[in-house]
Amino acid sequence: MAVTVVIPTPLRQFAGGNSEIEIEATTAGEALEKLTTAHTDLKKHLYNDGGNLRNFVNVYVGDEDIRDLEGLETEVKSGGEILIVPSIAGGNIAAEAKAERDLPNLSNEEIARYSRHLILPEVGLEGQKKLKAARVLMIGTGGLGSPLGLYLAAAGIGTLGIVDFDVVDESNLQRQIIHGTKDVGRLKIESAKDRLHDINPNTRIEAHETRLTSENALRLFREFDVIVDGTDNFPTRYLVNDASVLTGKPNVYGSIFRFEGQACVFWAEKGACYRCLYPEPPPPGLVPSCAEGGVLGVLPGIVGTIQANEVIKVILDAEGILLNRLLLFDAWKMRFRELKLKKNPDCPICGTNPTIKELIDYEEFCGLNLPVEERILEEITATELNELIKNNTEVQIIDVRETYEVEIAHIPNTKLIPLAEVVARAKEIDSSRTAIVHCKGGVRSAKAIKALQENGFAGRLLNLKGGIGAWSDEVDASVPKY
Ligand code: ZN
Repeated sequence: MAVTVVIPTPLRQFAGGNSEIEIEATTAGEALEKLTTAHTDLKKHLYNDGGNLRNFVNVYVGDEDIRDLEGLETEVKSGGEILIVPSIAGGNIAAEAKAERDLPNLSNEEIARYSRHLILPEVGLEGQKKLKAARVLMIGTGGLGSPLGLYLAAAGIGTLGIVDFDVVDESNLQRQIIHGTKDVGRLKIESAKDRLHDINPNTRIEAHETRLTSENALRLFREFDVIVDGTDNFPTRYLVNDASVLTGKPNVYGSIFRFEGQACVFWAEKGACYRCLYPEPPPPGLVPSCAEGGVLGVLPGIVGTIQANEVIKVILDAEGILLNRLLLFDAWKMRFRELKLKKNPDCPICGTNPTIKELIDYEEFCGLNLPVEERILEEITATELNELIKNNTEVQIIDVRETYEVEIAHIPNTKLIPLAEVVARAKEIDSSRTAIVHCKGGVRSAKAIKALQENGFAGRLLNLKGGIGAWSDEVDASVPKY
């Protein structure tokens, strides 16, 4: 009775790098038990201290959530698949609003511009007028926001609100195609506004140069018909979800990580919201951001275009909207999967007895203010580190041993900052990139990470498991052990 457990990208590092593992099992629980016995590092990512599945991790047998079946007792057939689907980190008009609004007429220029829509019976003149009447709010003008903005403006959305506070950086150009080389250093909303105006001067752009917060979200969302989530971090994602539920707006969601994307239309009035799927976020640091984990430049183009497609369908009240269906896309395997979602009656915001009735502090909710002791110490093995180096991933390695130890043995291309100096010299560590911290055996480096975190260091820090000793054992036997 062999079943295949499909391991998602963020957890592969804890499963020996495997994307699929065959296991002999008859129930989902047995398969996960065997999986975590073979890969003990996975355990803390899948289960809480009470031995229950963490609720930012969903498990599917076939295309059904085991919570809707018999939980861990759910039987699996030989040759079947078990999917582990963790939340990963980075936009229809309400029918009433449409009915109340007189649809605007189209000018002759607009009729010529939208002719390919007008001759599609599913859009037609009436549909094109609905698009012109629509007000769509895009959160972010980055990877997902780029194709979203370009296609929504081209399609003739009447008003596009854009929210961003960021500045165009050279490293954005690989995927954020709304911005060009000449825009580096400009505000993203300014650059996006110019490009969108060039694509379609009929679309009114409302630029909001601000960070979306619990203070401004409800006021802003109320002015729009559809919200499109193009964010890249968990606090904003939960904020967008909760504000959409509280204002009754559809939330067209997309997220990306490395080669994998997700898309869905969360709309509490008609089905599941993001919290029905993931009531709580993963602990900070578990899921790296795109800045750390990397992302295939084409991926947000595909996922953002799917979101734009769904926004148009929501406005047109089309059939087949991506409601209660989570679309998963793997660009490397070129594979789409679809999982069924159900509204969760116990959902803290859209369930029968909601406990969240107003916006909260999302940084705190996502554990970003958690005391350091409660954070998970992230580790990397010597073999994994060697893979990163071989793949030319830009790694920075911080050696927290003493100078005399370095003379005995060292890993190439490391920066020496002895443990006692690490807090005072934290600025020498680039917080925009992951840093791997090592010592002789892994204890001092764990202390260094804790000290840095306690002193507010914002970057991602990984502890080299077993220190340089493990490096000598696993990677380079010519490095002496001492
Ligand atoms: Zn919900």
